[in-house]
Amino acid sequence: SRRPLIAGNWKMNAGGQDACPLSAAVAKATRELTRAEVVVAPPFTAIAAVAHELAEAKSEVGIAAQNMSAEVSGAFTGEVSSGMLKDAGATWVILGHSERRQLFAETDESVARKVASAMAAELRPIVCVGETLEQREAGETLAVVERQVRAVLDELAKQPGFGVIAYEPVWAIGTGKVARAEDAQEVHAFIRGLLAKASEDLAGVTRILYGGSVKADNAEALLAQDDIDGALVGGASLDAAGFAKIVDAA
Ligand code: 13P
Repeated sequence: SRRPLIAGNWKMNAGGQDACPLSAAVAKATRELTRAEVVVAPPFTAIAAVAHELAEAKSEVGIAAQNMSAEVSGAFTGEVSSGMLKDAGATWVILGHSERRQLFAETDESVARKVASAMAAELRPIVCVGETLEQREAGETLAVVERQVRAVLDELAKQPGFGVIAYEPVWAIGTGKVARAEDAQEVHAFIRGLLAKASEDLAGVTRILYGGSVKADNAEALLAQDDIDGALVGGASLDAAGFAKIVDAA
């Protein structure tokens, strides 16, 4: 009953002249595949142009930003606010991506503040969680994921179904090492159990996406799992035809 969501995280790619052709190709390639909801996340610089392109194409593909300031406005050089993202045409925002946690010092606390700020602005958060290889090998996967989910649980519970969680094991990101579908399912079911501690409603309606080396040829097995409600796709989202195959698998 949860509608699958396939989101393409372009990361720091296709943020210039190449953004419009890519978004137009995604719109065209996914037009007939209505079962899944489709979202693309271009760099900040391309959001307005992509929004224009998708509107021209009368496309239902949604737009996510890849990060956001928790602040609303003011002296925060280099930051981008929720209001700016909405003005530019985004309706979603990816928050707490592991690259932001690892390379830009984001913490559970800062991610929680951003989630609260996004929800207050009616921007839908895609909250990323997931363990590193070191944490997995130390048997800490569930403890890490629990800590990361608990940090945003109260916020997500304020509007069940509005936000989304993406489980992205760090060791599977950009490595070609996809998690085995059953291993991913185990963590997804655990996350749903955590959501149920806030409310059964939240657990029932929240989509939990898998991310980490999702490709056209492994998407079907992942998406067939009970608690995997979609995918957050990095590298494979830069090719419209390949991305459409993932959407088709949902
Ligand atoms: P890859 O699909 O390139 O492994 O990236 C996953 C990811 O980080 C999506 O946010």
